[in-house]
Amino acid sequence: MLRQYELVDRVLAYSPEADEALINRAYVYGTKMHGMQKRANGDPYFSHPIEVAGILTELKLDAATIVTGLLHDTIEDTEATYEEIEQLFGEKIANMVDGVTKLSRLEWDNEQSKQAENFRKFILAMSNDIRVLLVKLADRLHNMRTLHFIKKEEKRQRIAQETLDIYAPLAGRMGMHEVREELEDLSFEQLHSEARATLLERLSELRAESSNVIENIAYDLRQVVAADGLNVEVYGREKKPFSIWRKMQRRSVSLEQLSDIYGFRVIVDDDAAAYAALGMLHRNWRSVPGRFKDYISTPKNNGYRSLHTTIIGPERKRVEVQIRTRIMHEVAEYGVAAHWFYKENNDVQTSDEFGNTFRWLSQLVELLEHGGTPEEFLEHTKLQLFTDQVFCFTPKGRLISLPRGATSIDFAYAVHTDIGDHCVGSKINGQHMPLRSELKNGDEVDIITSEAQQPLAAWDGIVATGKARSAIRRAVRHAQQEEFARVGKQMLKSLFEQFKKRAGPKVLERALGPLHHKTVEELLADVGQGNLAPHDVLGAVFPKLVTHAGSGDDVSARNQSGHVTVNKGGHALVALVNKAQMAAQSIEFSENLFAVPGDRLVGIVQPGGGVMLYAIESTELEKFSDDSARWIDVVWDIAPDAPSLFAGRVQVTLANQMGALGAIASLVADYEGNIGNMTMHQRDADFYDLQIEIDVRDSKHLNRILSALNGLSLVNQAYRI
Ligand code: MN
Repeated sequence: MLRQYELVDRVLAYSPEADEALINRAYVYGTKMHGMQKRANGDPYFSHPIEVAGILTELKLDAATIVTGLLHDTIEDTEATYEEIEQLFGEKIANMVDGVTKLSRLEWDNEQSKQAENFRKFILAMSNDIRVLLVKLADRLHNMRTLHFIKKEEKRQRIAQETLDIYAPLAGRMGMHEVREELEDLSFEQLHSEARATLLERLSELRAESSNVIENIAYDLRQVVAADGLNVEVYGREKKPFSIWRKMQRRSVSLEQLSDIYGFRVIVDDDAAAYAALGMLHRNWRSVPGRFKDYISTPKNNGYRSLHTTIIGPERKRVEVQIRTRIMHEVAEYGVAAHWFYKENNDVQTSDEFGNTFRWLSQLVELLEHGGTPEEFLEHTKLQLFTDQVFCFTPKGRLISLPRGATSIDFAYAVHTDIGDHCVGSKINGQHMPLRSELKNGDEVDIITSEAQQPLAAWDGIVATGKARSAIRRAVRHAQQEEFARVGKQMLKSLFEQFKKRAGPKVLERALGPLHHKTVEELLADVGQGNLAPHDVLGAVFPKLVTHAGSGDDVSARNQSGHVTVNKGGHALVALVNKAQMAAQSIEFSENLFAVPGDRLVGIVQPGGGVMLYAIESTELEKFSDDSARWIDVVWDIAPDAPSLFAGRVQVTLANQMGALGAIASLVADYEGNIGNMTMHQRDADFYDLQIEIDVRDSKHLNRILSALNGLSLVNQAYRI
């Protein structure tokens, strides 16, 4: 274990200005807080944070990061609180310790292996200070180094797998290749210890066969490529057991066939030079068939570009060679990060673009490698990653990634369409919150559902994901169709009853062919929506009936088959009014006059001698106000053989809510009215305008229905037209 003065000396060695007292205070505080706690190997617990701080000194990090390393487990594992650390060490350090604590609470369930990428992104998004992530990686590295002390095999396996899936790739993305390789190797040892041991043995045999292989091969490669006048750098190395093993797994090759253990990189100036270098290598050495890959002309999905080949090279060793430009090389080093930044624009071509995108990352790596004074840089570099995304969790810990601005409804739909369709509320981090609340990184979201719930049209405006939006629209459309069908059914029922017929599904099926509908449901919806007149359906089912009843497709025609008594100067003129006889009697209904018995009508004598009937409220009458001689009073009377119901027309402004139409239909039915034709159109987001023809006995009957309609909270206003 590092002693206090050793730790301080290490920091002072690369950062003479560092706050020595701060580090000393943190060392003492951490030791005191962890007290008698023990690690799995029996060491005092505080040896762990001290070793983590030690790893961080190898990365030459600033005093604040070292202190965070010393304190990183205090909030999680001891009595220490955020407030206390803030008081003793300041807000910045408290925030960093808090950040590491949050990351440590995330447990990676490797059942969800498909989500590894999401989880890594989430960790990056959560560590909005790079140093938090660096401390977390150092923490994981020390835990891996001491993994063998943990007694439970299962726990060791889980931690190793998590390291392999999550933390090793993260270290790679941060440009910390050494840390990545060590994490991979330690995980490999845990997960496949025999394979690793065999590989190590084979590697040392191969090494014993010849010395300085790598240097010699690199020298030869460089000579050959440079002979063409190219500016070239060549780097070679023996591959790590884990990466050899991974390749063996992918290619299903056995250890005996193992030959690809040397990897070389040839770095040149531009694309043309890369192809030229490839040509030089292939002319000098035999290439292994099937191993050449041109990722320059066809980059990998993540933007990776290089030429790959394997040759039987110098000293007759099989060597794998990657040829690339400097930019390609840097993209390859931080390549997956490149993919994150420019998902839409895979084409990271120019060094300018590259520079802007990865400046922080390459600067960081440079600083870490060359040991400048990284404090200021680190302080002011926030991870500007994934600002367009939020990462949230289900109560069971499943990670759900959503676009920024997403709400609980988006979350519900992302979990499952069924959950989205039935969500009624949400708890965010245990608190009841409105469904429209915007989600934040790390929120735990618990969706409350109810079978009775259906998606509301209003949700459309408060979701951010396409998945939620299309599901809501689909469901709303479906519910509307159902409601139209209910209304249509009621309209047909009352019409059919007038003719002593039943409008059952079997009967209505007969109308499908003639009216070109596929299902009864569809037919009912069309009637309900006003696209299809109820009389047409009746006519399609009972053709004879409708011929007998007249053309019948216009409700107002039924009105006009009553008696009209026209009073003029005390003389009653009784006329049987229907379409045929009206012309003969010269009595006409004005356009769109939906009069019912009891209505006050006015007749205006026409220049040709006929009489035109108007409703007393009609604005048309103003035209005749100066011409009182032409006015005659008209009173409805009903002939004994006339129908008992007459269509009046009302206008309803109705709230755009689920079930509103149904409420109107059942109210009208409760008052013994029948809904005839109906048309509706949307006035705005909140209201519909509805024109309904309601069959009633007389004007009193219609007025009762109107006042009941006006009494409904769904109805903004209802009046006759
Ligand atoms: Mn720890």
